Amino acid sequence: MGKKIAIVTGGSSGIGFAIARKLACQNIHTIIIGRDEQRLNEAANLLGENGQAISFDITNLNSIPELVNRIIQEHGQVDILVNNAGINLKKSALEVTDQEFQQILLTNLTSVFALTREVAKSMVEKKSGSIINISSMAAQYGLPGVVAYAASKTAIEGMTRTLAVELSPHGVRVNCIAPGFIATKMSATALNSDPERKQKVLSRTPMGRLGNPDDVANAAYFLASDDSTFITGTVVPVDGGNSIGF
Ligand code: NDP
Repeated sequence: MGKKIAIVTGGSSGIGFAIARKLACQNIHTIIIGRDEQRLNEAANLLGENGQAISFDITNLNSIPELVNRIIQEHGQVDILVNNAGINLKKSALEVTDQEFQQILLTNLTSVFALTREVAKSMVEKKSGSIINISSMAAQYGLPGVVAYAASKTAIEGMTRTLAVELSPHGVRVNCIAPGFIATKMSATALNSDPERKQKVLSRTPMGRLGNPDDVANAAYFLASDDSTFITGTVVPVDGGNSIGF
């Protein structure tokens, strides 16, 4: 059997890079997608011979079918899709414009659907595949200041369940990881300017620390691998207990 092929959106930094590194280390050919070409190429180099960079803006919906066709033509299949790319907007709900709301939903939700639909067509044909979506604590409880982000991530969990019941009979598993507060650029932007919020995060996380991108990567690899072949439609928190903490 040839190498497995994975796509990781947002694989150039933070959680996405850790997931890509984990997959590449397991000898999976790993295609990372992001907009900033230089950062993407640097990340792909760090992945070694299993890394491949494709610079692409996932909000460019019309070009997604062509992108996926190109990948299938080059590699024959996609075994693993990790929908990790995402953006946040921290702002009081009353100040969020329609345009800002739409932009978050376009990146975090609509583009995830479009890419998943195209990749899943080929997975269904091959009767095999694992799709992993990245949700958030913002979908587990009411987190203030992130109305659009919370809407997008909550929708991701519903979409995961519907896709799981539609695709699993065809050999394609669909799961979601809900990371807690993970130390990355995105969380630094949200927490470092707001010490009170950071304290609250830590105080309701039984493990008392932020997570590492590798904590999420290990769970993603499990869900991508044949060690989880009877697991589909789940939301797996990787959060040090944050979602159940008091
Ligand atoms: P980062 O900001 O470090 O990384 C985001 C990645 O997404 C970058 O590689 C970025 O690359 C890429 N990206 C953003 N927009 C686009 C786009 N339009 N097209 C292609 N790529 C894009 O974030 P994190 O690693 O922290 O977050 C990764 C995921 O995990 C997100 O979905 C986030 O919501 C989720 N998450 C993070 C948590 C945390 O505590 N950090 C907690 C819970 C969930 P580029 O800018 O070059 O396009």
